[in-house]
Amino acid sequence: MSRYDRQLRIDGWNQEKLRDATVLVAGVGALGSFIATNLTLSGVGKLILVDMDTVEVSNLNRQFLFRKRDVRKYKAEVAARKLRQMNNEIEIVSMPTKLENIKRSVYEECDIITAGLDSFDARRWLNSLCVDLNKPLITGGMYGFMGHVQRIIPYETPCFECQPLVPQEKLSQACSPIGEKRKHLPKKPEAPLPAVATLSMIIGGIISQECLKHLMELGTPLDNYLFYDGMTNTTTVIKLERKYNCPVCGEFYSLKEATITVEDGEKISDLSTRIAYAFGLAEPRIMLRGVILDKELIINKKNLKEGSKIFIMDDRLAKPLKLIIKREKK
Ligand SMILES: [Zn+2]
Repeated sequence: MSRYDRQLRIDGWNQEKLRDATVLVAGVGALGSFIATNLTLSGVGKLILVDMDTVEVSNLNRQFLFRKRDVRKYKAEVAARKLRQMNNEIEIVSMPTKLENIKRSVYEECDIITAGLDSFDARRWLNSLCVDLNKPLITGGMYGFMGHVQRIIPYETPCFECQPLVPQEKLSQACSPIGEKRKHLPKKPEAPLPAVATLSMIIGGIISQECLKHLMELGTPLDNYLFYDGMTNTTTVIKLERKYNCPVCGEFYSLKEATITVEDGEKISDLSTRIAYAFGLAEPRIMLRGVILDKELIINKKNLKEGSKIFIMDDRLAKPLKLIIKREKK
């Protein structure tokens, strides 16, 4: 009898599709442990586990693939070893490194990407890469007993960036829904976030379930943002809308070109700040003819002419943004 016998009894279940699928699991922490376990047990053909972190004692209350003896070992490697014991009929690859260090071809090989990342910047980076590669992304986050799941199908559903941007000082609260509850959260962004096993299991379960449904084209996909509050057992599904001028997936951005007006006497650092606000970027670097412009450089008619093309690079962009210079008409 097949190890998959019980799931094969589900109407529409397609084990061959799962066997032929490759899924990248970004982050093998609390959510990632449960995501990777579910995908392993279900028989997804190839899993790529990415996490740069090592196991810490404080992970052990919820990251159930790890034991005390695993402390200081790479999460991706320990997880891969444990998962192979659960199912040796699938291929599991571990990559104990940053998402940014992985070759694009690895992402291109995947049918879908799941993410349980604790850093807001990493989520934004992965989102823009997935949009760029046109790869589906199921992502989620947690804060204590609250969690969310978002299903991103590039150019079809809103991407992570279509939502209102969260100010820097609220990064640690990025997992919480918009509204009242944020006020009760701690003010210090550097404090570790509260996290429990039960919520990790529920949110990780929903992420992996959406992933399996996507691979087998089973059921109704999450459309497109789910918020869960474990304290009240409330599940809310919100249909976020795409933003036409989203810097990552909007039509405006898909042109990969926009104009920006400059004035003589403006510093490059000030232009950089304006660009950061306009496009929701972190610390844009401005490149002209292959050279990064010095922040202290003062703009004049010679160094930035009407029609000059500048390229903007930023940690939140998977590829540079092209801007055409317009001169202020006096
Ligand atoms: Zn978007």
